[in-house]
Amino acid sequence: MARYTGPVCRMCRTEQKKLMLKGDRCRSDKCAINRKRSAPGKDPKARAQKPTDYRIQLREKQRLRRIYGMLEKQFHLFFERALRMAGITGENLFVLLERRLDNIVFRLHFASSRSQARQLVIHGHVQVNGKSINVPSYLVRAGDEITVKESSKGLTVVKDALREYGKSGVMPWLELDPDALKGRFVVAPRRNDIVDLADIKEQMIVEYYSK
Ligand code: SF4
Repeated sequence: MARYTGPVCRMCRTEQKKLMLKGDRCRSDKCAINRKRSAPGKDPKARAQKPTDYRIQLREKQRLRRIYGMLEKQFHLFFERALRMAGITGENLFVLLERRLDNIVFRLHFASSRSQARQLVIHGHVQVNGKSINVPSYLVRAGDEITVKESSKGLTVVKDALREYGKSGVMPWLELDPDALKGRFVVAPRRNDIVDLADIKEQMIVEYYSK
């Protein structure tokens, strides 16, 4: 299963936005964006130029792709699938991304970042409707129950993440029983519900792939 193995904070520096890829560190003073570190490897003159439409669209696409921790090929496949669905493509894309199992494990606070959630899934610590699923991109359906496997309930990473972030509650399309380490994907979210990504302009991403 291919994944990005380069420096993670560099991606935030490139976008000059916090993508929240490293869990606890992202909320600390150690975050490269909090420390106002500049974008890597850019000619200052090029940076001062007005960005083209293409560049704005590209950056928007890269930002969303990186937030969900996906490589280009798989992200493009998700986009193609969103395109084939009825309704608005950009909104469909968000719904598909939110249905990813690793994303839901993160949203349920069983992990402090999507990459940590991905590791939990890959290593077989997560079950959907009582069955072990080790595919991070598995698409969860409305009504599905997501649990940490009985033998994995003592994992420190899970307990720490839940203790740290569980107090803030879960997104409105999810339910969480923190004592049982069990959650439910109640219903597919609407675009407006995904408030933490409200600043992403999905139409730009649609335009990027429509060229
Ligand atoms: Fe991005 Fe988190 Fe690194 Fe900050 S600590 S630069 S938000 S990955």
